[in-house]
Amino acid sequence: MVDAERYIAPAIGSDDLYLANASAGLMSAPVLGAVIGHLRREAAVGAGEAAVEAGARLEAGYAAAARLIGADPDEVAMLDSGNRGMQQLIQSVPLSPGDHVLVDRTCWCGTLDMLRAVKGIVVDVMATDRWGRADVEATRASLHPATRLVILTWCPATAGTVNPAAEIGALAASIGAWYFVDACQMLGQRSVDVKALGCHGLTASGRKWLRGPRGTSLLFASRTFLNETKAYMPDQVGASRSDARRYEQGEGYVAGRIGLGVAAEGALAIGLSRIHDHLSCITAAIRAGLAEVSGVELIGQDGDDLSALVTFTLTQRSSIAVGDLLAARGIVINTPLASYSPYDMAARGLTDVVRVAPQMFTTTADVQRLVKAVAEIALASPEG
Ligand SMILES: *Cc1c(COP(=O)(O)O)cnc(C)c1O
Repeated sequence: MVDAERYIAPAIGSDDLYLANASAGLMSAPVLGAVIGHLRREAAVGAGEAAVEAGARLEAGYAAAARLIGADPDEVAMLDSGNRGMQQLIQSVPLSPGDHVLVDRTCWCGTLDMLRAVKGIVVDVMATDRWGRADVEATRASLHPATRLVILTWCPATAGTVNPAAEIGALAASIGAWYFVDACQMLGQRSVDVKALGCHGLTASGRKWLRGPRGTSLLFASRTFLNETKAYMPDQVGASRSDARRYEQGEGYVAGRIGLGVAAEGALAIGLSRIHDHLSCITAAIRAGLAEVSGVELIGQDGDDLSALVTFTLTQRSSIAVGDLLAARGIVINTPLASYSPYDMAARGLTDVVRVAPQMFTTTADVQRLVKAVAEIALASPEG
């Protein structure tokens, strides 16, 4: 029997109030134990033998990961980062000069850099609604006929926006384009069903909302995509496989993959609807509390569907300065820059934001502590 509570508390943690979970979620004891346990076996019996011993454990992790996203087990791979997954997917699409690729306004910087490296293609940006989400109907009306690939950042790193991923999937299908979803800021927050999204590829970092070890990610590639495309320069292991693991390298971070599988099991044990409920409740309290603080402007926090990333600015203070002042009060947050989601941040006229991201272990007392600290910082006159 799995004990869901064991997956909720951070394995170690500190006295600080940790609200940087969108950058890296704190690992639970079962995840940390699985990683360290495997590293110890590698040190004892050698990496090869340890991997053989852990074979069933590893396969159970892949199966849990597949269950977590509604995929078949042969459609899932474990790579070393979200970016790596997107690289593998994009490189598998035979794009020619003149082809169009459609992205949404919150597109992740790394994905834009990858697309810039593909010679001769044209990148179009979807229309948005008044909340900055992809506007499905306006996008449909302006679709270029040479659109071969659609890439959606489901939740950006710099706002609370949730893009309509299933609707964009239907739009991509209507023109026969490949469809990839960047779920780096979504997987682990709420239930994900790749079949319902209609996506051919999906990527997610292991260390963020899933609370897996860093240096890991999940990659989904649909059976259709696997059948109709080729992996780009697979190595001797990838070349021998026809499932999604053709994107993996023969050499890899086995301890991390085991830990990622345990993190997937943990998310399933807690239950994605329970996680979503808790995060919604906590982020509603954070938004309500911050909205009362004069000088705080919530960023990308409107609309009927929001993620658990609460982003804001404080008048007359840079986000970095707010981050330092919160750190001095023992509160850890992130301050993502405009470069993370360049189109969206430019459209909002921002250079940086303060980002607060809770987790299952975040309490309403933590929310009060955060809001009180932000209110103190807002009241104190900015130096310089
Ligand atoms: C973090 C992030 C990525 C990249 O993931 P890595 O695992 O760090 O490579 C991609 N997209 C979004 C929206 C992210 O927040």
